[in-house]
Amino acid sequence: NNRIVLASRPVGAPVTDNFRLESQDVPALKDGELLLRTIYLSLDPYMRGRMSDAKSYADPVELDDVMVGATVCQVEDSLNPGFEKGEWVLAFSGWQSYAVSDGEGLLKLGKSPTHPSFALGIMGMPGFTAYMGLLDIGQPKEGDTLVVGAATGPVGATVGQIGKLKGCKVVGVAGGEDKCRHAVEVLGFDVCIDHKADDFAEQLAAACDKGIDVYYENVGGKVFDSVLPLLNTGARIPLCGLVSQYNATTLPEGPDRMSLLMATLLIKRIKMQGFIIFDDYGHRYDEFAADMGKWLMEGKMQYKEQIVEGLDAAPKAFMGLLEGKNFGKLVVKVAEP
Ligand code: NDP
Repeated sequence: NNRIVLASRPVGAPVTDNFRLESQDVPALKDGELLLRTIYLSLDPYMRGRMSDAKSYADPVELDDVMVGATVCQVEDSLNPGFEKGEWVLAFSGWQSYAVSDGEGLLKLGKSPTHPSFALGIMGMPGFTAYMGLLDIGQPKEGDTLVVGAATGPVGATVGQIGKLKGCKVVGVAGGEDKCRHAVEVLGFDVCIDHKADDFAEQLAAACDKGIDVYYENVGGKVFDSVLPLLNTGARIPLCGLVSQYNATTLPEGPDRMSLLMATLLIKRIKMQGFIIFDDYGHRYDEFAADMGKWLMEGKMQYKEQIVEGLDAAPKAFMGLLEGKNFGKLVVKVAEP
């Protein structure tokens, strides 16, 4: 069994030395247990938080423990009557090629799912996050202008496409020309603006000529600074993530913007609400799965994955995720089905 453990805690951006690849024997099964063989491992921004021991909504990974993460696995062997060899499950077994489970918390994906890895993206946690944050907190209405950052990632891409289904004008923000083109040509956004452009703020203002009604916050930082003056009275901000700050060790440069933020929220009666998807909305997963399953079947959702091969490629791919080097939902293919 190969596994990647947390070797040390990062200060700022993670580096290769924070991870260690180890090999161990595959554990023997006890009655009631099953052996999972990892086929796909999801890499997600929240993992940066788990590498740190700062207080957060979830406990950190302990040093020398296997890195956490959602996986799509096949049952390799089973001493549990609820699971058969060969069937597929969604698990939370982390950065390792095999794991032992008692069956608790596994979601069955069937004997031969068409797109098993989708359970880590559009049909799973990121898709669910996009759906609930936008629809429940963002409350998009026909004709609203919706802005979303990290526009080609699994959350942002889904937010924008649902926004289009709800009749919004969708303005994406992404890093680089290729991603912006993809957001417009493939995902169907109205516009997408490159946050690396020198005149990003001006381009965003021009694209949002009627202001912003919903800002789905994935990134924070400079993008938020440019969004703030464009917010309309009564705007909604689902506060989903702040990926531009996950590696930060100091507060952002420049003057303190706190009083400007507070005054804008007050004067414009803006609702800004943070959420942690399964803690706040776990009970509504079925609603999401039904709608998203239908939209996918009807061809209303486009979904891009970036698959990297081999468990040992995970650290580098993860480090790149926090810098925008991924294009689409980042998944590691750990083994052949
Ligand atoms: P992505 O696959 O979109 O990856 C992160 C992206 O963030 C990068 O590709 C990059 O895209 C963008 N990014 C990184 N640094 C910056 C920066 N300095 N400025 C602007 N953009 C930057 O991630 P996900 O779709 O998986 O997640 C999106 C957000 O949703 C994250 O903040 C994540 O933490 C959050 N999240 C929150 C959940 C919750 O329960 N609240 C659950 C799931 C996700 P680009 O190159 O386009 O800039």
